[in-house]
Amino acid sequence: MGDTVLYERRDEIGFITLNRPEAANAQNRRLTYDLDEAFTAFARDDEARVAVLRGAGKHFSAGHDTRPSGDDGGERRPVTLWWDHRGKEITGEGLLAFEEELYLGMCRRWRELPKPTIAAVAGACIGGGLSLAWSCDLILASDDAFFADPVVSMGCPGIEFFCHPWVLGPRLAKEFLYTGERMPAQRAYEIGMVNRVVPRAELDAAATALATRIAERPRYALALTKKAVNACEDEMGLRSGMETSFALHQLSHAHNTNISGFPVLVTDPAKLKTASQ
Ligand code: ZN
Repeated sequence: MGDTVLYERRDEIGFITLNRPEAANAQNRRLTYDLDEAFTAFARDDEARVAVLRGAGKHFSAGHDTRPSGDDGGERRPVTLWWDHRGKEITGEGLLAFEEELYLGMCRRWRELPKPTIAAVAGACIGGGLSLAWSCDLILASDDAFFADPVVSMGCPGIEFFCHPWVLGPRLAKEFLYTGERMPAQRAYEIGMVNRVVPRAELDAAATALATRIAERPRYALALTKKAVNACEDEMGLRSGMETSFALHQLSHAHNTNISGFPVLVTDPAKLKTASQ
């Protein structure tokens, strides 16, 4: 495992820490592969019962890192059976394989991990940061946390891991996407998008206490419970809706490329090296 994500088990709790605080834990390729390895380590750690996903520093995650300096993991071997997207010209084909693996597929793997997971969110949880929090079963937020998906302004209909209508409700999902405005932790709590809001200084302790309480339950029953709720969520249309929205997302990348030469609309194309967003 690399150093952009740390994994540590204390008692029965596996702590997974995003560790790019200098970049507000933005997700470059390296961090995303490291995170997948950390979740894998947690899954295979027989002593670990519950995971806490958190960010080092002030912010949980500022989203996908599309800056040239952020793309430093392209040498990593794909973990899915999609064709190899490494080092290729950005085309619809390459972008589809890349986003299927890193932005949709990995989040699904983490969501379906058969042990409880808790996201402890402080500060910013923006764009792709939402994918990480929404992949977890529970979300604890500090009182300074906020959530936003600004990618409509970049010409895309929301992030790839498209949970918005299910976690916000359709009408708020539209407002959240149309405006790109920040949703404060308290508002996210009121609509049921996060489980609890706690003072910033108490976030780690609150996540640990909640994880410890859950870890006291039988492992097998927890796994079945998670599977049951996820199955119901999928019956409510999450999985099929996400397939449709992912296809529309790819359409937006194709359209943006046609009109601007880049898969996302940006004011300064020099800031982008890859097509990923
Ligand atoms: Zn995309």
